[in-house]
Amino acid sequence: MGLAPLVLDGFTPYPQDVAERYRREGHWIDQILPEPLFASVARHPEKTAIIAGDARIGYAELGDRVLRVAAGLQRLGIRRGDRVVVHLPNIPDFIVFVYAFWELGAVPVFSPAAHRRTEIEHFVEVTEARAYVTVATHDGADLAALAAELKGAWPGLEHTIVLDPAGGGTALDALLAHEPIAHERRSLPQDVALLQMSGGTTGHPKLIPHTHETYTHSVRVSIPLCGITDASVQLISVPICHSMSVRSPGFLGVLNAGGTAVLAADGSPDTVFPLIQEHRVTQASIVPPLLLAWLNSSLKDRYDLSSLETLHVGGAKLSAEAARRVRPELGAFLQQGFGMAEGLVNYVRLDADEATAVRSQGLPSSPGDELLVLDDEGREVPPGTPGHLLARGPATIRGYYRAPGLNAISFTEDGFYRTGDIVERDERGYLTVVGRSKDQINRGGEKVSPEEVENLVLGHEGVHDVSVVGIADRVLGERVKAYVILREGADPAVVTLGAIRRFLRERGLASYKLPDVLEVVAEFPRTAVGKVSKRAQRAS
Ligand code: AMP
Repeated sequence: MGLAPLVLDGFTPYPQDVAERYRREGHWIDQILPEPLFASVARHPEKTAIIAGDARIGYAELGDRVLRVAAGLQRLGIRRGDRVVVHLPNIPDFIVFVYAFWELGAVPVFSPAAHRRTEIEHFVEVTEARAYVTVATHDGADLAALAAELKGAWPGLEHTIVLDPAGGGTALDALLAHEPIAHERRSLPQDVALLQMSGGTTGHPKLIPHTHETYTHSVRVSIPLCGITDASVQLISVPICHSMSVRSPGFLGVLNAGGTAVLAADGSPDTVFPLIQEHRVTQASIVPPLLLAWLNSSLKDRYDLSSLETLHVGGAKLSAEAARRVRPELGAFLQQGFGMAEGLVNYVRLDADEATAVRSQGLPSSPGDELLVLDDEGREVPPGTPGHLLARGPATIRGYYRAPGLNAISFTEDGFYRTGDIVERDERGYLTVVGRSKDQINRGGEKVSPEEVENLVLGHEGVHDVSVVGIADRVLGERVKAYVILREGADPAVVTLGAIRRFLRERGLASYKLPDVLEVVAEFPRTAVGKVSKRAQRAS
C-alpha cells in the first residue's frame, strides 16, 4: 500500500527492539482505530451504536456519518498527521469527528469541554493545530467567540468548526453533505493517533501521544476485563475525552464489541438514573464523587437500576466505606480501576473476592505491563510496603509530546514512566493507591496543576505571592486552596475568593481549576531548606 510511517517531531518513539517484541508477542497488532468500528458496522448495521437524548444512531448510520464528515474534512484540506483540537461535550459528534479524523490519519487533540481559552490556546500553540472543533456555547461560555478569536490570533489555525450547543447545525450539515469517502487505510498502526491531556504537575497541561498500536491494545485488553460484549449498554457520563470514557473500556470498547453507548451530559442521579432505567444500562464508569452522589440520592429507589451489572469507579481514590455500599445499595459489581492517560490501566478482576474489590485498585490490564514499586533510593520494596510506582508497557508512552525537559524527569533512561503515585502491591500483584509524590491536586478525578493556577494568580495586581495546594474534602477527595500574600499596600478587599475566581475566569481558565478556598496570610511555612512547605499548608 506504500504508506511511509508518519514522522511527528516531538514524539518519543519506542526503541525498535521493544516495538518488534510488542508486535511479536501480539500486544500490538496490525490495526488502526477505525477498523474495529467498521467491523462492527459490517456485523450488525442495524443495531443501535449510540443513544443521546432522543437520538438513536445505528452502526450503519454512524459509519456513514464518519465517512461523510471525513470527506468534508478532506475537502477542507485536513490530511494525515495534521493536529486538530476537538473540544466537545458528551455528544455523538465527538465520536463522529474523532473517527473522521482517524479515517484521514489526522491527530485529534482531546480537550475537555470544561477547558477555556488558556488551555485551548496552549494546545493550539503547542500542536500547531490546523483545525478546531467546538460547540457555540458550553456552560455559559461563548466558544464561538473563542473560535473566532483563536482563528484571528493563530494563522496556522485554518479551520474552526462551530457546532450548535447540543451538536449538529449548519457547520455539521455542510460536512455531512459530501459523498462519503471509502473506508480505507490512510495511516499506519504505528502512527500517532491522538494527543490526550496529562493530569499535569507543571505549568500547562502536557500532551500524551498515543499511537494506534498503543490505543487499540489498551482497548482490546479492556473489553474482556470489563465484561464488555455486544449485549453491553454503556453509560458515558464522565467527560467524553477522558480515558475512562474513551478506552477504559469507553466508547471504543463498547463500539468495538458491538454494544451500545448511552451518552449523558453529566453524571448526576437526576440525569443518569432515568437513562439507566430506560435503556437498561449494564455498565457505567464514574469517578468517586459521583458514586457518592448516586449512593446518597433518594432517587435510587425510585428508578429501576437492576440492569446495572458493573460499576467501574476510578480517577481518584475511593473510600472503602463507599465501596462497600455499592453491591447492597446499587446491586452492581464494583470494579475499581486505577489508570492514567499516559497509558497504564489496572482493573480489579470481575471474579475478585469482596475484600479485594473493596480495598484494591486492580491488577495491570496488559500482559506486557512491567511495574516497579521503589523506595526513595530506587530499590524495589517487598510486597505490602508502600513505594513509588513506575510503569512501562505496550500501552504506556515513552515521552510527552514536544516536552524534552519534562521527559527527562518523568521517564527513566530505560523508558519507565514515573507515575508519581505511591502504591502498595500485594503478593498477587494487586495494587492499592496509598498516596502521591507528585505536586498535583486530584479534585474528584479532575487533575489540577498547582503551578498553572499559581502562575495566573501571580498576575493579579493585589498579589505578592501565592501557593496553591489540595486540601481534604469529604466528597471530592480534595479541593483547591490558594494561600495568598498581599502585595504591599494592596487593598485586602480586592483579593477575595470571588475576586480571584473572577480574575482567573477572565483569563480563560477551566472552572474546575479555580480555587475553592482562599486564605490571605502574612508568610508561607518553609521547609528546612527554605522551600514553601506545601505539606504544612495542606495540613493547616
Ligand atoms: P488521569 O491521567 O487524569 O487519568 O490521572 C491519572 C492519575 O489519577 C493517577 O496517576 C492517579 O494519581 C490518579 N488516579 C487514577 N485512578 C485512581 C484510583 N482508582 N485511586 C487513586 N488515584 C487514582
